[in-house]
Amino acid sequence: MENSNSDHKAKLLEIRDLYKAFPLSSGLLEQLQFKKGRLVRNRESVKAINGVSLDIYPGDALCVVGESGCGKSTIARVVTGLLRPTSGSIVFDNERIDHLPPKQQLPYRRRMQMIFQNPYASLNPRMTVRQTLEEPVRFHNPGIANGAVKEKVEEVMASVGVDPGWSNRFPHEFSGGQRQRISIARALTVDPEVIVADEPISALDVSIQAQVLNLLMEAREERSLTYLFITHDLSVVEHFGSRVAVMYLGAICELADTATLFGTPRHPYTQALLSAIPRLKLDRPAHIKLKGEIPTPIDLPKGCLFQTRCLYADERCRQERPDLKKLNSGARVACHGVEENRIE
Ligand code: SF4
Repeated sequence: MENSNSDHKAKLLEIRDLYKAFPLSSGLLEQLQFKKGRLVRNRESVKAINGVSLDIYPGDALCVVGESGCGKSTIARVVTGLLRPTSGSIVFDNERIDHLPPKQQLPYRRRMQMIFQNPYASLNPRMTVRQTLEEPVRFHNPGIANGAVKEKVEEVMASVGVDPGWSNRFPHEFSGGQRQRISIARALTVDPEVIVADEPISALDVSIQAQVLNLLMEAREERSLTYLFITHDLSVVEHFGSRVAVMYLGAICELADTATLFGTPRHPYTQALLSAIPRLKLDRPAHIKLKGEIPTPIDLPKGCLFQTRCLYADERCRQERPDLKKLNSGARVACHGVEENRIE
């Protein structure tokens, strides 16, 4: 069952009816078009997020999964305040935070830290590890004693498996895996409650991805962390997630607890994604090859966003966008075919 008690639990983070569009910069002349004999200005935009609502509960490891360009990284950036939403809201611990001025967002930013995909780009090459880790502690705890800062940095370095004796080294002296450990340490130094991790292992060598993933899982246990985990890798989701949201073209098509989603995927897109995971078992479902074009996020189709690639699309699908509806399993699925029992 998808988070069976979730309806009654206090939410830590609520994403409400979120939209994010990026205007395309083009000249006025390019924007002008004739429509039905009238000159109109057509301002185009990339519609990256199209009506996403998600509740995240304390202790969740909610994975947002989908192909590149589906809007999952944009969600991470809007939730952490790096981007403002076009509309909708972000509520953290019962407080709406997306429209607060930057100064008033600070306490919430401390409680919600982000880990980026690329540890090569996210660490300042001119700062030693000690400076990198001390900076957020001092920033979020003005007046903190030097001894307390040193103690915190050493505790966190040890907990992520980086020798505190290396704290005077620079990022280029470390491997990719160690740099990502330092990025994780930087997030942990301010004792956050939520970690928003945007593809945190995909830039690492395959041989060390599992180590970093295990480190994130240990930190979740030891520090009672809640995760919003963005990934394109379903095998990571199966290992790490307590719940999964599957995204397509900026909208959620299926939301379920991990076991339900992997055991009985219902949305045709989820079924196709899961059928592509290599499995050793012989009874795995045949690989579903998606046909058709992915529509451009500049010009989204009316109706279901998946209709151009769906084997089950009918006239209703072409006219009416499906809402997420709760099934008996507890999963939520946005599909007319599932609702009408046309799809198993
Ligand atoms: Fe396919 Fe229609 Fe379901 Fe969309 S709503 S996934 S087009 S069956």
